[in-house]
Amino acid sequence: MKNKELFEAAKKVMPGGVNSPVRSFGSVDTPPIFAKKAIGAQVWDVEDKAYIDFIGGFGPHILGHANPVVLEGVAGVLSEGISFGLSTAIEVEMAQTINRLMPSMEMVRMVNSGTEATMSAIRLARGYTKRDKILKFEGCYHGHSDGLLIKSGSGGLSFNVPTSAGVLDALVEHTLVGQINDIEGLEALWARHGHELAGVIVEPVAANMGIVPLDQAFLKRLRDLTMSTKTVLIFDEVITGFRLGLGGAQGYYNIQPDLTCLGKIIGGGMPVGAYGGRADIMAHISPLGDVYQAGTLSGNRVAMAMGLNTINYLEKHPEIYRQLEEKAVFLETAMIDNLKAAGIQGQVNRVGSLLSLFFTKEPVTDYHSVMKSDTEVFGRYFASMLEAGILLAPSTFEAMFLSMAHDDEVLKTFIDIQKEVLKSL
Ligand SMILES: *Cc1c(COP(=O)(O)O)cnc(C)c1O
Repeated sequence: MKNKELFEAAKKVMPGGVNSPVRSFGSVDTPPIFAKKAIGAQVWDVEDKAYIDFIGGFGPHILGHANPVVLEGVAGVLSEGISFGLSTAIEVEMAQTINRLMPSMEMVRMVNSGTEATMSAIRLARGYTKRDKILKFEGCYHGHSDGLLIKSGSGGLSFNVPTSAGVLDALVEHTLVGQINDIEGLEALWARHGHELAGVIVEPVAANMGIVPLDQAFLKRLRDLTMSTKTVLIFDEVITGFRLGLGGAQGYYNIQPDLTCLGKIIGGGMPVGAYGGRADIMAHISPLGDVYQAGTLSGNRVAMAMGLNTINYLEKHPEIYRQLEEKAVFLETAMIDNLKAAGIQGQVNRVGSLLSLFFTKEPVTDYHSVMKSDTEVFGRYFASMLEAGILLAPSTFEAMFLSMAHDDEVLKTFIDIQKEVLKSL
């Protein structure tokens, strides 16, 4: 089947032809491709065209696609039954591993997606503090639960529905929205609402409006303010967890949240999420406490096995993080050179192995500067890169994900192609 035929068929039986909006390539005005397989840093579409991949499954595949390290033992797990409605040993091992590497997560609850993790963490913050209001930041994305789909990033930004229809006004009222890196705004908000806030949720590196680093001073101030009002500070590390280092962004910046949400890498590509943190807060979750949360497939053995394979490998080879960062710095430098050579004003933002390119002349440091980037130029850039065999995330608001499979040759190919494409824009 061809990409086009599949998309036509899909649109008849799936809204927009997809199971997740960004896959429709709708915001870059290009017909979508359908993936057939992926190995290492390459993806093939159903027409057998090969691409160098920078989507990386939107985060999980830090060791590259279909890595035998990640798949080890999975066949055995499958043949012994994958879910029992009972606890299994590997769930304990996963929680112990997370706790060892991210000590702020004293207790951990596994769920099936990042969305579930953030939704449950918010419920827990409310149940624990007996307060209603939460604070999130404009352009940060925390999955698609009602209370968090307010001024959110990712597909919400790409498709210009940052606040979803169908979200009750009552929830919007209880969700305050701040601006990242605006300390004064944060302090003003705290003076008025600090004592009403159950929790604050933040991506410690904003990675769903492109990559926008949070100032350490901003994060520190947020930590101090939340402490002063006993507001639960929630780090959404669904992307940054095990991506920036074994200790996530909280290790990278040395700031401890009260609760942390994980996903993506910890499932090795299987559906997964986790939330955890201070034992005294986690003790409010059922069956210990009165905040209810459950899951038929939570702690699924295949997800646990693939996630643990990934994490255990990273722990045994911590030099991977330095190597990934070197790759990313190499790309960052080359991309800046390519922009110069083409006479295009653009910004390359990078934290660790997370990168993004914005077509705008001013530095991108917050939501407002993100929104100045030219999405029409990005659309043309995306389409030309795709044509030339480079698969980028189909939105200027999604990151470029590097993996260990992106070797020198792959990176050089990307740089050469990008140079020509930028000149042709
Ligand atoms: C991907 C993502 C989520 C949602 O995870 P899903 O598994 O897609 O539900 C939440 N927060 C952040 C920061 C993410 O990047």
